[in-house]
Amino acid sequence: MDRDGPPRLKLIVITDAASGPRLCRGCGGPLMPSAKSTAVFCEDACRSRHWRRMRRARTRTEAVKAGVTASCQQCEAVWTVGIDRPVSAVYCSPACRKRAWHTRRAQFGEV
Ligand SMILES: [Zn+2]
Ligand SMILES: [Zn+2]
Repeated sequence: MDRDGPPRLKLIVITDAASGPRLCRGCGGPLMPSAKSTAVFCEDACRSRHWRRMRRARTRTEAVKAGVTASCQQCEAVWTVGIDRPVSAVYCSPACRKRAWHTRRAQFGEV
């Protein structure tokens, strides 16, 4: 009689994905149990952050596809438009912009 211990309780864990805590698509945190069944974000801030990120990623992908490059009017540095610099960028750095501004000023003969 060496197996005369107390009966073991078998713990059965049922994992049901649908009933588990849903996670916020923005921050990955669990949603409040009170959240609507259609809710995917824990709060408005997470929702807007998520969409902003999505939009930025898409803009970036399109810029890579387009592969348009621009170069600095001061030092001839080259970059891909929409990735390293905004589409409207003319100079590679504030330093170059400043230099260009000084050059222009000199050309106009201002004091
Ligand atoms: Zn969140
Ligand atoms: Zn430059």
